[in-house]
Amino acid sequence: MRKPLMVGNWKMNKTITESIPLITDLTEFLKDYRKTEIVICPPYTSLWVARELIQDSNILLGAQNLYFQNDGAYTGEISARMLQNIGCSYVILGHSERREYFQENSKDIARKVQQALDFGLKPIICVGEKLKERNEGIAQKVVKEEVEAIFSILKPLDAGRAVFAYEPIWAIGTGKAATPRDAQDMIKYLRKLLKDKYGKKTAEQVRILYGGSVNPDNIKALMAEPDIDGALVGGASLQADTFARLVKYNDSNGLI
Ligand code: PEP
Repeated sequence: MRKPLMVGNWKMNKTITESIPLITDLTEFLKDYRKTEIVICPPYTSLWVARELIQDSNILLGAQNLYFQNDGAYTGEISARMLQNIGCSYVILGHSERREYFQENSKDIARKVQQALDFGLKPIICVGEKLKERNEGIAQKVVKEEVEAIFSILKPLDAGRAVFAYEPIWAIGTGKAATPRDAQDMIKYLRKLLKDKYGKKTAEQVRILYGGSVNPDNIKALMAEPDIDGALVGGASLQADTFARLVKYNDSNGLI
């Protein structure tokens, strides 16, 4: 049984001052809630305060990126070693915004995934097609290529610790989520790729999230699909009550 996983990607939002009430409210709203694994990924500047505020809570910490060297002359970068030391359990890698605005290529992302795993961090590996690619009927091909770049470095023993996130780029921040059926179809395909490469046991163990305009109103239908194990959430993770409702998608009394 794969435990549902909800990840809040705050992107470049929230100062330390703004992070404190958001995290404090989240710990209150989600107190003792254990049906879903909960991860928040604030910007680097808020990681320390987040770590202090979520101590002894059911919320885990993640980062939004890392660089694939341990340390050294790489101005502006943050290493897996630093993230491990500050208390991160997860790290988002290969987000489409990193691929598009910062020219991250598949080789860079694969090296980052390796580095995360070497330092005990669970990578949340994002893949997904552009609208044009979906319209051209090559969405699966695009996702396959992105996933295979990761498979080229991901050792069988490490594969079970990875998390994948299918994030169609046209659904991110647009308010237009994929239909549960479309998300399920792609995630099922991704699980098949995992099975072909790493075997049935690993494929059934790896969690695959959907991301793209997830909110408290559409999460339940997405989670009803057999292969969707959770969500990577951008905008809807920036308000404590909204994210808490989303995390508690399965409880009728989950309203905050
Ligand atoms: C994301 O950035 O990963 C994301 C899914 O954003 P949003 O939920 O705002 O579409």
